[in-house]
Amino acid sequence: MSEGKAQRIVIIGAGHAGGEAAARLRGLGFSGDLTLIGEERHPPYQRPPLSKKFLSGQLPLDRLLLRPLELYNQEGITLLLGERVIWIDRPLKRVRLSGGREIAYDALILASGAKPRRLPIPGAEKAGVFVLRTIDDVESMRPLFQAGSRLCIIGAGYIGLEAAASARQLGLDVQVLEAAPRPLSRVTSPQVADFFLNLHAQHGVRFELGAQASALLGGARVEGVQLSDGSVLPCDAVLVGVGVKPETELAQQSGLAVEDGILTDDQCRTFDPCIYAIGDCARRPIPLLGRTARLESVHNAIEGAKIAAAAIMDQPPPVLEAPWFWSDQYDVKLTIAGLLDGYDEIVLRGDAAENSFAAFYFKAKTMLAVDAINRPAEYLGTKQLLQRGESLAPEAIRDISQPFKAIMAQARANSAKAH
Ligand code: FAD
Repeated sequence: MSEGKAQRIVIIGAGHAGGEAAARLRGLGFSGDLTLIGEERHPPYQRPPLSKKFLSGQLPLDRLLLRPLELYNQEGITLLLGERVIWIDRPLKRVRLSGGREIAYDALILASGAKPRRLPIPGAEKAGVFVLRTIDDVESMRPLFQAGSRLCIIGAGYIGLEAAASARQLGLDVQVLEAAPRPLSRVTSPQVADFFLNLHAQHGVRFELGAQASALLGGARVEGVQLSDGSVLPCDAVLVGVGVKPETELAQQSGLAVEDGILTDDQCRTFDPCIYAIGDCARRPIPLLGRTARLESVHNAIEGAKIAAAAIMDQPPPVLEAPWFWSDQYDVKLTIAGLLDGYDEIVLRGDAAENSFAAFYFKAKTMLAVDAINRPAEYLGTKQLLQRGESLAPEAIRDISQPFKAIMAQARANSAKAH
């Protein structure tokens, strides 16, 4: 941060990005006032297990926390939980909380995350209709997550499918409704989508694809989902997983630039030099894509926290990692390195029938990303290559006479020669 170092830093949003940013700032030696304000009553925690092991009851709540609660105290981080920031006064550099209290800042980090989209259809507010974003969301649906309950999941993205797997593991009857002709259509290739469709079908999940919910039926409590063709899927509970909206209201109110995310430069700084935005709420230049993007991932939350903390502390920017993501469904671990936007070629290695294969994505013969299903070597190898700005030719990957490790060894040798 130019014009003298900040003495008072306020972070709005005690989620993954906000929690990481506070820890990074102290890690970089920031010794001034550091306040982390969160609307939820929980200290910063990891959301990924909410649709996986926490939902299926295999992980206790305290294992979700990013860091033990006492560390905030020890590091002099003021954690204000159950408090919502309702106003940013940019000229006077202070924020106002819902209770009326005001806190001054020299640097402000917006890490306000995203909110699940609701369905704009009749009955969407009925009891028994849930979204999955917070610990409290999971706790509220637990009573219905019992063997024999009939669950209808609307939306076959990663969260919907992970929830379907967790629900099946608990013995629920699960139907998934998706408007697109296949699951995961926004985020992966037809080949990988079809793999997950088959996987879930093998576990007894029923799919309604290319189908739209037009109303949620029942009395005070939901009893069924009506489709636009008039048919009805009876159920005891509905989980809506149709994506999220970035939480940008405060930024908009205070005149910051917002375009599906708070716009920042590559330092995560908004056009107000004292205000930064990171995580799900922000849109920044992504070198691998050559354009700005708003990413929704743990990797992006951590990366934003590192970048903003370094910028505020006038430190050199951190070395960036290639984007990564993962999804756990039944005994399948999908790991993703890179971003597959705009791919024009896909090469598969391995055997989908054995739940072990990788889909490599290329654009103009340059590697963009990999979806690796139970294939850690392909994931790690591709991540390293992307990080170094290197690529493997599609032909090299297509050559199944060579194990992937041998292909990587050759790539490393070529890279060493070139440097
Ligand atoms: P959040 O974690 O949403 O935190 C934002 C916080 O800000 C919230 O607590 C919110 O209440 C608070 N807030 C908002 N406005 C205010 C305000 N005005 N005042 C005070 N507080 C405010 N990513 C992966 O990489 N891999 C996965 O497998 C994966 N699985 C996921 C599963 C689920 C069920 C969910 C919900 C997400 C998953 N993600 C996964 C995505 C990942 O968790 C998010 O990208 C990440 O949590 C974003 O962090 P964030 O800090 O930007 O936002």
